Amino acid sequence: MNKPVSLVKDGKLAIPSPDVLGFDPHELHRKYHFERDRRLRPDGASQYQDVEGDLDHYKDDPYIAERIERVPVQETIEVAILGGGFGGMLMAARLQEAGIRDFRIIERAGDFGGTWYWNRYPGAQCDVESYIYLPLLDETGYMPKEKYSFGPEIYAHAQRIGRHYDLYSRAYFQTQVRDLRWDDADARWIVTSDRGDVFRARQVVISSGSLNRPKLPGLPGLRNFKGHTFHTSRWDYAYTGGSYAGGKLDKLGDKRVGIIGTGATGIQCIPHLGNAAGHLYVFQRTPSSVDERRNSPTNPEWFKTLTPGWQRDRNDNFTKLLVGVAVEEDLVNDGWTELFKSLGQLLDGSGAADLTDAELKQLGEILDFQHDNRIRARVDATIKDPATAEAAKHWYRPWCKRPTFNDEYLPTFNRPNVTLVDTGGLGVERVTEKGVVVDGVEYELDCLIFATGFEVSRATYTHQAELEIIGRNGVKLGDYWARGMRTYHGLMSHGFPNCYHMGFTQTGYTPNFTYMLDNQSRHLAAVFSDVKARGVKALEPTKQAEEEWLALVTAPNAMTDYLANCTPGYYNAEGNATSNNDGFLQGHYPEGGLRFYEMLAEWRVKGDYAGLVVR
Ligand code: NDP
Repeated sequence: MNKPVSLVKDGKLAIPSPDVLGFDPHELHRKYHFERDRRLRPDGASQYQDVEGDLDHYKDDPYIAERIERVPVQETIEVAILGGGFGGMLMAARLQEAGIRDFRIIERAGDFGGTWYWNRYPGAQCDVESYIYLPLLDETGYMPKEKYSFGPEIYAHAQRIGRHYDLYSRAYFQTQVRDLRWDDADARWIVTSDRGDVFRARQVVISSGSLNRPKLPGLPGLRNFKGHTFHTSRWDYAYTGGSYAGGKLDKLGDKRVGIIGTGATGIQCIPHLGNAAGHLYVFQRTPSSVDERRNSPTNPEWFKTLTPGWQRDRNDNFTKLLVGVAVEEDLVNDGWTELFKSLGQLLDGSGAADLTDAELKQLGEILDFQHDNRIRARVDATIKDPATAEAAKHWYRPWCKRPTFNDEYLPTFNRPNVTLVDTGGLGVERVTEKGVVVDGVEYELDCLIFATGFEVSRATYTHQAELEIIGRNGVKLGDYWARGMRTYHGLMSHGFPNCYHMGFTQTGYTPNFTYMLDNQSRHLAAVFSDVKARGVKALEPTKQAEEEWLALVTAPNAMTDYLANCTPGYYNAEGNATSNNDGFLQGHYPEGGLRFYEMLAEWRVKGDYAGLVVR
């Protein structure tokens, strides 16, 4: 239990005794480390197996009605955009606004939507507020139905953007780019696809997604399972019944269903499986932290009051709060802002600005404990069986794994047809023809679903995107980045002129990815329009600029220590980070997202392309 006690007095740290505090911070610290240590494994990220060869079917697209037949095209264009998710669409929209219409979007899927095209599992929902997460609401005038939209609405919004900006006429779907080759004489990229297309593009923007390639655990016997199986990012409604639009998964009534994985995806789809399956076994290695969802319908009267620019202002407000900049009002006011506000408010109100770094670290840990104790108390209050409740509690700090928000997940374990199989941090032992073995016990299954996430490794960027990028002098990006990403501004790389990577790593971090992608799109659209006006053929970072950027973004920071103490997961390279250029949450602009976008704007205004060789 937490008691509302002051942790700072007269500008000094004053941690009360456990009796007054309601818990013992040293005890919890030890517990967190114990839980982390028993999950650490020497094979780290290589515990997962690649979804290719005879496992390739886990990547098949179950959503395309029919294969598009078309002749290969040969086109010379200004910009090739790889990826038709929100990143690629924002890039296209911002290019159009900047007067550049000569672009193509090339996308492997059958439509726009990216992650929302693939992840159509039941219960899929955005966990950042829809008013800031769904892009281009201001421009399209669309009002999300709820504070947190469900997947079908978000997917439909992607199509709305496609129509609004006339992107369908400039998109090639069901097309996978295989090769990007820099033609130095012509200062263009030669982009070739699996359809035999050849695009000669001045600029290439890659927005292939950071969590796009499904991964499977490297379990012995996985190939032997004789029942039905699929990954959550390729949901098989033909087998489960129901549909993405809704409805019960009515074909599962007589089935024994197993699901491996209790991350953000598992949390959202497990209630639907529990509601439908004859019996559901949830195989858990590490529990998620599951806070309240607090969803609500959008008030149309409020929406009518919004004036142009509102979405950007709201996003700025959210991002400011998350980087500790004071705001007059918390517009989003949800679980995310709550997580960030606690430390900020405490410091503001108590004159604790003089605390040392070590004291701030200690204070931060105690505030996290208080936050997580509340979430663990919620588990006890919801799950009736005490042993199941105990197993469902997470023992790590909030940023070790994606925090989740859901009101149906925990009650699912009160159903008589649902069993939580806790693997004690060790994971599933093996798969047999009939099912799954945990701690020597075989659980027979008709269907095994993998909610085991996506490949994340800096070194395998081109592997994830399933393409090769061959830059100046024939250097492959896969080789150049073999020991981690090397970029300037997180966007471009030495030896690879006019090739831009949209995404997360080595840029300024903000938890709302669409806002991050929008800022990058605006920046690149401004750069492309400027180089066009100036007749510049190629921009490429100097080796020195790249080295300096790398040193800046990989310098140890507060997050380095935080993640090193985390339970394993993809945020910290499964606890095996060998450098600060490893792991999903490492390698970021130290001053945060907002300052990063400001810095890019200042860089553009100066107009000298600092750090770049201009041709
Ligand atoms: P994650 O990588 O987060 O989770 C994978 C799950 O599989 C973990 O629970 C992991 O356990 C478990 N697992 C892996 N191997 C084994 C094994 N051998 N035995 C038992 N369990 C195993 O993938 P998700 O698809 O859940 O989420 C990926 C990301 O996608 C999220 O972090 C989030 O960024 C995004 N997302 C966002 C959503 C949103 O609301 N906006 C919704 C869904 C996803 P362990 O933790 O021990 O490794």
